[in-house]
Amino acid sequence: MKEKLQHILKSFEEDIKKVVTYDDLEKIRVEYLSKKGYIPQIMPMLREVPNEQKKEIGQLVNSVKNQIEDELKNTKQMLDMKEIEKNISNSEKIDITLPVDNNIGSLHPRTTIQKEIEDIFIGMGFSVEDGKEVETEYNNFDAVNVPKNHPARDMQDTFWLDNGELLKTHTSASQNRILRKYNGPLKAIFPGRCFRNEALDHSHENTFFQIEGMVVDKDVSVANLIFFMKEMLSLVFKKDIEVRLRPGFFPFTEPSFELDIKCPFCNGKGCSTCKNGGWIELCPCGMIHPNVLRNGGLDPEQYSGFAFGLGYDRLVMMKGNLNDIRLLNSGNLKLLKQFGIK
Ligand SMILES: [Zn+2]
Repeated sequence: MKEKLQHILKSFEEDIKKVVTYDDLEKIRVEYLSKKGYIPQIMPMLREVPNEQKKEIGQLVNSVKNQIEDELKNTKQMLDMKEIEKNISNSEKIDITLPVDNNIGSLHPRTTIQKEIEDIFIGMGFSVEDGKEVETEYNNFDAVNVPKNHPARDMQDTFWLDNGELLKTHTSASQNRILRKYNGPLKAIFPGRCFRNEALDHSHENTFFQIEGMVVDKDVSVANLIFFMKEMLSLVFKKDIEVRLRPGFFPFTEPSFELDIKCPFCNGKGCSTCKNGGWIELCPCGMIHPNVLRNGGLDPEQYSGFAFGLGYDRLVMMKGNLNDIRLLNSGNLKLLKQFGIK
């Protein structure tokens, strides 16, 4: 009987190696363990075994049976794993018969131009600061020298929150936080989304974008401001840019200027972009008001600086030859296509 058991085990070992499918496995289980299988069939033979060998042979029968059961179980687990792997690789297979979608999307022209401008400033040693969109009344107005009842507040009506905070009306709302962060010399730009509660038309939006910059150090003068603006704009337009300054008024700078550039599209001859004037008003700028420096924790006797805004929506409109600022918030796909998106 011992030999017979060893023979059954040996043939089982050979059979189990050949298993490929669940059907193969089931066939072997039936062949060895079902009522008419080899193992149950051999049981009656135990009765014929001499008494002194019964215990040993009995244990052997059990051990062979357990071994067969274990191996069947292991093989089933192996088949399960193969099945899972097969499902995963099937679901990840690329169906090359699917039609190709060429509409892969792109960045908004505003984002593209913002990144270009940021790269130029980073190359000039500036840091790019992130500003909040919900601001305190102090940061948006008081800190930049626009006290309560100042007429500039009327021009910058915005959306107020129940807690007294507001949606910032200009990127200058970040000035105070940045001045306090550096507490000394700094070169920073801070692009951001701004909001105004006003009547909309082709040149006014309730949501628009600005890029503002500040340079603070000892002995910074108007000469530095003019030189810097000319250099920076030449990099933005990738050509030599002529600038002119006109006196302007902003509460947060003194003196304040409106900086115009000679129209880079017609070289000053007059075109639709410059409304035939030859010059484009692009950058409000000026020397930072001593009150703003003081509010930012700096001594105006020791430090000076200049600030400038870049008409960033204006730049996007110029590059895309757009005549309505509202298009920029419209999600209009025709507009995106105009900027080279297929
Ligand atoms: Zn022009």
